[in-house]
Order: sequence, then structure tokens, then C-alpha cells
Amino acid sequence: MREISHKLAFAHDGKAARYSDVFDPNNGGVQARVALGDKALLDLAVEAAKKAQPAWAAVNPQRRARVMFNFKALVEKNMDELAHLLSSEHGKVIADAKGDIQRGLEVIEFCCGIPHVLKGEYTQGAGPGIDVYSFRQPLGIGAGITPFNFPGMIPLWMSGVAIATGNAFILKPSERDPSVPVRLAELFLEAGLPEGILQVVQGDKEMVDAILDHPDIKAVSFVGSSDIAHYVYKRGVDAGKRVQAMGGAKNHGIVMPDADLDQVVNDLSGAAFGSAGERCMALPVVVPVGEKTAIALREKLIPAIEALRVGVSTDAEAHYGPVVTAAHKQKIENWIQTGVDEGAELVIDGRGFKLQGHEEGFFVGPTLFDHVTTDMEAYKEEIFGPVLQMVRAESFEEAVSLPSKHQYGNGVALFTRNGHAAREFAARVDVGMVGINVPIPVPVAYHTFGGWKRSAFGDTNQHGMEGVKFWTKVKTITQRWPDGGSSGDSAFVIPTMG
Ligand code: NAD
Repeated sequence: MREISHKLAFAHDGKAARYSDVFDPNNGGVQARVALGDKALLDLAVEAAKKAQPAWAAVNPQRRARVMFNFKALVEKNMDELAHLLSSEHGKVIADAKGDIQRGLEVIEFCCGIPHVLKGEYTQGAGPGIDVYSFRQPLGIGAGITPFNFPGMIPLWMSGVAIATGNAFILKPSERDPSVPVRLAELFLEAGLPEGILQVVQGDKEMVDAILDHPDIKAVSFVGSSDIAHYVYKRGVDAGKRVQAMGGAKNHGIVMPDADLDQVVNDLSGAAFGSAGERCMALPVVVPVGEKTAIALREKLIPAIEALRVGVSTDAEAHYGPVVTAAHKQKIENWIQTGVDEGAELVIDGRGFKLQGHEEGFFVGPTLFDHVTTDMEAYKEEIFGPVLQMVRAESFEEAVSLPSKHQYGNGVALFTRNGHAAREFAARVDVGMVGINVPIPVPVAYHTFGGWKRSAFGDTNQHGMEGVKFWTKVKTITQRWPDGGSSGDSAFVIPTMG
């Protein structure tokens, strides 16, 4: 059986005491096994990183940026291979797998401009003969722990900014689709990154705990489900690290009575069912405002959902492919049953979906619930599958309150033609990323990504200037160059520069 291993800066036979299966979601079989690393392996990776990092931090930023330019070109050259590899382990369709890698590359493009954002600040004459300046320095060694659902984009969010700012970075990808991060690390080496600056350690909780406890790892960036994000945040902070930990989501799409319903149905189909709903910025909840909107929307939604094509991830006509594992498929189907038991109306049932010729694949058909209410567990929790829940609201006020009161606060979208309503909504909704007539409001790379409430622990977002701040520490210098005359009297009060 094919074995997937780590990408390290030292000789290693790739063997491990424990392995985890990597499935083929299209067919349901095991296609490979991945080595699960332990603390001893991490210690060696950290030693290699420690050796390499000071020289990398001393490389001038435009040379570090050049590695980013080279890497971008290499990823583009290898896009087809990367997308097929990603899709074969994750199950998302090829075009979507390319999008996954492309959104990561956009952060690399941001990193190509790293000299500009590291310029620092300077005040001449902050006091008599005194100048003050500040600049950002790397933290040293950072680590990233990533989820299965974006095996290209999220490792690049973290590694790009961490490396460009002069750190060494150790990535622990999801054990469910571990191959693409290894290929990306190989391409970084080909692009000119020195050995030891980016290493990939495979593993599960044992490796995560080793990362969180390692005294030489100064910062940890995590993306995954909320309970684990919270655990990682607490344990990492207790160990004295800087931690950003992004968690789960339950994003709402609010549909105002004046919205263009054909556009809404198009947008919702992609945002709720694309990537089989396995996106933290999916829109699994739709909230029509007013009974007339609900009736009209439902009428248009049903045929659109019934027309969705579920297929193998290499089917160019498929709207979405299988989910990642049999366990995840089971979890989604259990949530559908919970929704039924709690009294929601199951309008389209995707359970038991079989794709001809791929009967063992992890497919879930598109599912629609109506009359979902906020007391239902199936509404409160993240399902992370191709399941759209309709919650009917009577007024704009009620619609704004739903995402605001929800435990998650990652993304939200409002569909309307009314600029005033949109403006009010954006100002008042208690959610981190807002789309106005944009169903998946993932910010561009030079802005920043991060949710609120249980969707993120820690206070610094991913990429953009927030990412730069997370991976660096600021140093501020106050300097005076006396002209050689009297050194003046001692000052016993706090100096002011009045
Ligand atoms: P997950 O929480 O199961 O795994 C994430 C990472 O944590 C993996 O690397 C995994 O190996 C590790 N891990 C798993 N169990 C652990 C444990 N008990 N202790 C320590 N580490 C552990 O998440 P997933 O299923 O891979 O990804 C889907 C989740 O990620 C969803 O909840 C989704 O909303 C979320 N997500 C959030 C964002 C965001 O930016 N907010 C982005 C993408 C995905």
C-alpha cells in the first residue's frame, strides 16, 4: 500500500509506530496510509528549524519575496497534478480543488510584497534630538495545524506569511488528506527555500499535543472544529505561546423580500452544496424574511436542488463530489435524522444516495429542510454536509438577530436591493465576515480572514496585515545621538518629551 510520510530537513526512513488510513472517497476504499509522527520526531524537526531559522531571518526581505514569486510560478505549473491529488483524497471536484489551491496562492501573492509591509514606522524628532522607530521581527519557530477541508489553501495561509516574515514553520496537516501539503513543501524547496524553514510532520492528537507543549515553538495557528480549537487555544496559551485558533461555523443567508430570487437560488446552490457543504464559509442556513418570500424562494429552490449533479470528483459536470470519509457521511446522515426527530420538515432527503458504479463511495445527496426552528440541535450545531436548512423570519429585525445570537459567528450573507438595509445589517450583525449579495464572503488575501464567537479563539486573524502581526513581534527603539556636549542632569521623574 502507498505510504505517505513527513517532509523533514533531516534523513528519516518515513516509518512510524502508528498509521492512519487515507480513503478514496469516490470508491470508499483505503488508498494509502499516512505515518503518524510523535514527540521524538517533532523534537528533531524543531532542532532542524532552530538551525535554519536565524540565517533565513537575516535574508533581506526582497530575497525572501523572490522565493515566494518562484513558488507561485511552480504551483501554477503543477496545478493540474496538485488539484487531482487534492481531489483524490478530499473528494471535492477538480475545478473546486483548483480554487482551493488558487485561494492559497493569493496569500503567496500578498507575501511577494512582504518588503513593503515590513518597512516599519519612524518618527523623527519625537523629543529634543530624539527619534523613535519600530520594526517587526520574526518570532522564531511557528507551527500550523490544519483541517481536512482546505488542504491547499489553509496550509498556504499560514506557511506563506510565517515564512515570508522570516520564521521557520512546521505544518501538521489533516491526516485525512495529507499529500498536497507535502507536495507544496517540495515545491517550496524547488523555489529556493532553504532546508529546515518549512517542514511537514504528519500526525494526530499526539503530534498536536507535542506541538502545543514544545517550548521552542513560539506560535501556533490552528484551523478546525470549535471544541478542538478551544482546546488548542487554552493549552497553547498555558504553555506561553501566541495562539490563533479558528473553529466551526453555521453561516446564515438572509433573503429580503426585495432580493432577486433567481440570483439567490443560484448563489445558494453553490454556497450550500459546493464541496458537499464541507466549507467553513458555506451557507447551510437560509432565512427568508416574510411568508411571501419564503413561499416564493422554496418554490424556486426545490427544482434547483433536485437538478444538482452529484458525481465522482473527476466528473467535470458534477456540482459536488463525495464527502471525506464514511464516518463523516454517517455523521451528516445522523444530523438529518435529528432534524426529522426534532420536527423540521424534510423536503428533500439526501440519505441513502448511491452513485451508479460507485456504490461504496461516500456520497450524500442534497438535502433541504424547511420550518427549522432555533431551538433544534440540528440548527444549533454545524453539520458540514450538503444540507440546507430554511428558518423563516417575520421581520428584518428577527433575521439580523438569528446569526447574531448563534454560537458561531464566521460568515453571513444578506441578499437585498436596499442599500440602507444592507448598511444597517453590516453594522449590527454579530459576525466576523459579511457578504452583501455575496454568498461566500471569504475576504481577499490582502484583507483578513476570521470569525467571531465560537468560530475563532485568540484575537488575530489569518493573512493580510493581521497575519503579519501574528507571525512577528514589534520592537520599538527610542534613540538619541548627543552632539558630544554636556550629558545633562539626571532625571528622576518619568521622561516626557513635551
Ligand atoms: P478537526 O477539528 O477534526 O481537525 C483539525 C485538526 O485538528 C487536524 O489537523 C486534526 O489532526 C487535529 N485534531 C483532531 N482531533 C484532535 C484532538 N482531539 N486533539 C488535538 N488535535 C486534534 O477538523 P476537520 O474535521 O479536519 O475540519 C473541519 C472543521 O474545520 C469544521 O468544523 C470547519 O468549520 C472548520 N474549519 C474552520 C475554518 C475557519 O477558518 N474558521 C476553516 C476551515 C475549516
